Amino acid sequence: MKLKALNGFKDILPGEVELWQGVETMARQIFTRFGFSEIRMPILEKTELFARSIGEATDIVEKEMYTFSDKQITMRPEATASLLRAYLEHGLHVQKPVQRLFTIGPMFRHERPQKGRLRQFHQMDAEVLGAESPLVDVELMSMGSMFLDQLGLSVTLELNSLGCPACRPAFREKLLAFIDARHEALCDDCQRRSATNPLRVLDCKNRNCRHQVEEAPSIQEHLCQECADHFQAVQQGLQQLNVDYSLNKFMVRGLDYYTRTTFEFITSDLGAQAAVGAGGRYDGLIERLGGPAIPGIGFALGLERLILLLQQKNETTLTSHCDLFIAGLGQAASSLAFSLVHTLRRNHLHVLMDLEDRGLKNQMKQANRAGAGHVLIIGEEELEKGQAILRNMVSQEQQMITLPGQIQDRQTTIDALLTIING
Ligand code: ATP
Ligand code: MG
Repeated sequence: MKLKALNGFKDILPGEVELWQGVETMARQIFTRFGFSEIRMPILEKTELFARSIGEATDIVEKEMYTFSDKQITMRPEATASLLRAYLEHGLHVQKPVQRLFTIGPMFRHERPQKGRLRQFHQMDAEVLGAESPLVDVELMSMGSMFLDQLGLSVTLELNSLGCPACRPAFREKLLAFIDARHEALCDDCQRRSATNPLRVLDCKNRNCRHQVEEAPSIQEHLCQECADHFQAVQQGLQQLNVDYSLNKFMVRGLDYYTRTTFEFITSDLGAQAAVGAGGRYDGLIERLGGPAIPGIGFALGLERLILLLQQKNETTLTSHCDLFIAGLGQAASSLAFSLVHTLRRNHLHVLMDLEDRGLKNQMKQANRAGAGHVLIIGEEELEKGQAILRNMVSQEQQMITLPGQIQDRQTTIDALLTIING
């Protein structure tokens, strides 16, 4: 029997993992700059948590969750519910009126695996709890945009408002009347959904359904005054910060808890898996989970899709390449190289050497494979003259470096190498 990973589950190997590390590092840096703190939650939660937050009539809860039915526990399909559970359980809302939290980790959904769609996938999730100001929405979306921009990805931000319990019911009725008139023309899913959750018909991927709802009423024109003002202020804020966005009246999101602002980061480079990330406001959710009436907003970015986009741009790493490869030839040179490598690593350089006494040609190959910026060649002849050759692998320029005659002279050589390599 050949042992293989489960369908929809994937190993992340060296060669790819460097990209993941780079993306995660950048997220941590940028999110921290915006005042976010990291939180890590368990992967298993009570099933009820997801049923109550995400909503019973959603694809996720209806058919995508990995649930141990005998134990009433579920592997988290998304992060917001778990994060809010932890937030309430530990009284984080009492400690600070506004909490900015982020988390990075695996999520599980039983979906049909395809490019950019897995059963174990990874999200970076950022949430702001306790703030109602539209400027918070603006800040959160601008943080997502800044992050994607710094990764070098061009992604569009689509924006909608889903209103609130005061204005959505009237819109729902109006939409229902519109949909009922076209009931026969809709796909089976939409016919079923129109009774429980008619808004979902608006974002059906079926081409015919899309065509049917083209002229559907827009929720943006049915917001109550408070929601309309909020939506207006969000757009003004985005304009103030020069964050590009476009309005999309069809976006409703697949989770029940959203209110007011909803948004998606969309790419045209991944076929059907167009959403790189998505989020929105959920002002009633914390109450629904048994907490006080605290507003919240958040988004999640899918790491697999970010990695695919970076790979399509031929990015292989976002972290630093190897700074220096030291090629020592012969035993004395290798021994000197061995201590230099150690000291340079202590000085924060990414340094490699060969420990198997291989020839120069082979060592240069290793240096190239590691993407070394410089190679220091210590040959037997050079060693006798107390010198080594430092080659810049990009410009191919070479210069001589004086080697330490005595152990106590080593610092001079180290300093010279650090100065050149750190530029
Ligand atoms: P989609 O419309 O692609 O199914 P979604 O609306 O279900 O996405 P969310 O629940 O909002 O997605 O999750 C946020 C992000 O997580 C998505 O934009 C996507 O990048 C990523 N994501 C969601 N499901 C998967 C999956 N099965 N495999 C890989 N990434 C996923
Ligand atoms: Mg989905």
